[in-house]
Amino acid sequence: MTPKDNQQVYSPGLTELPPLPLDVPSLSEDFRHYYTHNLGRDKYCRSIHYHYAALALTVRDRLMERWKNTRYAYIDSDCRHGYYLSLEFLMGRALGNAMLNLGITDETSQALFDLGIKMEDLVSAEIDAGLGNGGLGRLAACFLDSCATLQLPVMGYGIRYEYGMFRQRIVNGQQVEEPDRWLRDGNPWEVARPEYTQRVSYGGRTEFYRTNDGNFASRWVEANNVLAVPYDIPIPGYRNGTVNTLRLWKAAATDEFDLGEFNAGSYAESVAAKNAAENITMVLYPNDASENGKELRLRQQYFLASASLQDIIARWNVLHKGDFSTFAEKNCFQLNDTHPSCAVPELMRLLMDEQGMGWDQAWDITSRTMAYTNHTLLPEALEKWPMQLFRQLLPRILDIILEINARFLAVVSNRWPDDGNRLARMSLIEEGPNPQVRMAYLAIVGSFSVNGVAELHSQLLVQGLFKDFYELWPHKFNNKTNGVTPRRWIAWCNEPMSALISDTIGDGWVADLQQIRRIAPHADDAGFRERWHAVKQANKQRLADMVSQECGITFNPESIFDVQVKRIHEYKRQLLNILHVIHLYSRIKRGETTGWTNRCVLIGGKAAPGYYMAKLIIKLINNVGQVINSDPQVGDMLKVAFLPNYRVTAMEIICPGTDLSEQISTAGKEASGTGNMKFMMNGALTIGTLDGANIEILEEVGDDNFFMFGLTADEVEAMRPIYDPAAIIDADADLKRVMQLLRGHFSMFEPGLFDPIINAITSPHDPWMVAADFRSFIDAQQRVADTYRDRERWTRMSIINTAHSGKFSTDRTIEDYNNDIWRLEQIPVAR
Ligand SMILES: *Cc1c(COP(=O)(O)O)cnc(C)c1O
Repeated sequence: MTPKDNQQVYSPGLTELPPLPLDVPSLSEDFRHYYTHNLGRDKYCRSIHYHYAALALTVRDRLMERWKNTRYAYIDSDCRHGYYLSLEFLMGRALGNAMLNLGITDETSQALFDLGIKMEDLVSAEIDAGLGNGGLGRLAACFLDSCATLQLPVMGYGIRYEYGMFRQRIVNGQQVEEPDRWLRDGNPWEVARPEYTQRVSYGGRTEFYRTNDGNFASRWVEANNVLAVPYDIPIPGYRNGTVNTLRLWKAAATDEFDLGEFNAGSYAESVAAKNAAENITMVLYPNDASENGKELRLRQQYFLASASLQDIIARWNVLHKGDFSTFAEKNCFQLNDTHPSCAVPELMRLLMDEQGMGWDQAWDITSRTMAYTNHTLLPEALEKWPMQLFRQLLPRILDIILEINARFLAVVSNRWPDDGNRLARMSLIEEGPNPQVRMAYLAIVGSFSVNGVAELHSQLLVQGLFKDFYELWPHKFNNKTNGVTPRRWIAWCNEPMSALISDTIGDGWVADLQQIRRIAPHADDAGFRERWHAVKQANKQRLADMVSQECGITFNPESIFDVQVKRIHEYKRQLLNILHVIHLYSRIKRGETTGWTNRCVLIGGKAAPGYYMAKLIIKLINNVGQVINSDPQVGDMLKVAFLPNYRVTAMEIICPGTDLSEQISTAGKEASGTGNMKFMMNGALTIGTLDGANIEILEEVGDDNFFMFGLTADEVEAMRPIYDPAAIIDADADLKRVMQLLRGHFSMFEPGLFDPIINAITSPHDPWMVAADFRSFIDAQQRVADTYRDRERWTRMSIINTAHSGKFSTDRTIEDYNNDIWRLEQIPVAR
């Protein structure tokens, strides 16, 4: 990196500039300036990309002085800071969000219109920042929006993957993955800050030595160093002058490292070593809710933790001159799942080995600043790393983990003397032929707060996975129900509905979603319902256009749009959805169609590339769709589409155009869900199990406005030992017919293709209990169909759903985090 000198070049006069105007003429002038003078394009340009880039730079300029003023405000107030550490930030597009939050969407649209350019075309040219898998990564993105909107001094830290979430194509009904080189054409939203580069170590060994004052100390020697170069992304608050920072790290080789190899005469090896260093941030692991186990993944996790903590400590030392007495009062780290939980031993290492503290002082600071959010109830998704791998890759970190464990187990045996089983259960090390480090336990022991992401999830955690720890430290455990940002997920993605709401109750709801409840009384107003219905129909047409373009399937907006989009996973039960589709098809073929409701079923989502069953389910959905969509007897009564490459940008069109949101996971398996909230806000009704945040959605809207079905989490566990799917199938003529069709009808040319699916459904050990909820699901879907035919009733329910969605704003979630965990002051920014 070039500007590696780290001296302060103090230049107060240099940075004082008047704020850039936000009016149409100045936007137009800057747009033309960037297009012609900066990007060097002319009227013969053959790519829309440069129009997009010119507009992005124009808008970015208007964030810059707000960004600077926000930094100044935080430094001047010497405030307590929050840090959101996450391996994933699923940001999607930035341009529309920046215009919305600056309040310049209409002005920009006008400026471009006057130049004969459609703003929508430029917005569509932006590539999604797909630096996440699904809900966990999108939550991090929504959190950043809410922190900036609430003017909280919170900085996001993540990884700048060269390749984000893979692009999904469907070939022959099967998922094909393509690399997502999202940075190919540059990224106008990032600012490289090589002057804040950090060094991260791997390998080597621990050395003990005697310090000048005669004490023993440790250091990490003979390590390989990798550089971590920060790239900053501005996070604008909603019309409040605040612009927070998301800092993403890129790995780069050190100069010395190359030189050493070069002097040894092996130029090629030195270049290869450079590649090995830069590989660390090359690719996002595409597994959602499952463990990884790969060395490179552990390298990524430590890279994020180490670079971020060093960065924070370096900033601390500039402002506090090495005095750590108030560090714990002034800093708080939120760990997004266990992925960044190396932060616990890494902060210990930095405080002891680099800042010269003793264990007790370092532990006091660490355990008062770390907070951990758990995101899963699936035991197979709890991260464990082989101790052997730790020893090789991060020897000093393993020493510290073992010391944390020894001291922790002493606490446990003081509390429960002579309970060897409990010691073994709670140890940070799972013993066995290949001992493993239990990362969730490390995070719990090192944190003052442990939270789940919905009421049910937080309850199940302390009754199950973390029971022992709850008995020891009940005060650490709490709940923070997830949310989504209403800026992106209503105001930006559903302009017609936003206009109708603002027309009716004013626009205060955008920054205070509880206000949206004031539309509830208008559900009784036939005129309002008519306008609401018209908005929904327009949004359905927009979705139908996308389905037609992407899938070549025609959706009629008079039909009910029944949608399930999310990662493909057995616990989410896309399989149950498709069994219902097959049941409807069977009814049509048998002529059982009295009182029919025409239905368009849309399913989308990515499967982890190594997840065999998830990929087979995608194939099944596509094969079922092929049969149904090409059958003239079915016609408009039933359509089935699999939408390829589900992502944030697709969801922005999908959720406004949805009538029915499918949230049908096996109860007790979905930690929260956030897709459910986006749909609800946009006036979709939910068909759902009593799982995750569905329960809280049901509480908010009441059971008249929610299609509930299926076993409860308790009933699922009670049924497991006696679960007999064969008997259930035998007793249910509809399910029997569906299973019969599954056996051959959708795999005429690929006999036996779906046998693994049939075996899974008929197994008494099916963890997801698909057959158990079939009847209840079919009956609930019949209630949906009957309700949809009563347009006034459905529209009323739709309005009530949106009106009661206030709780699910991440503004509420973040206020909860701040009141109970972070305790940050709001910092207003000079404007
Ligand atoms: C909201 C969202 C998710 C999470 O959806 P769930 O239904 O809660 O699993 C996943 N992916 C994308 C692109 C999203 O926008």
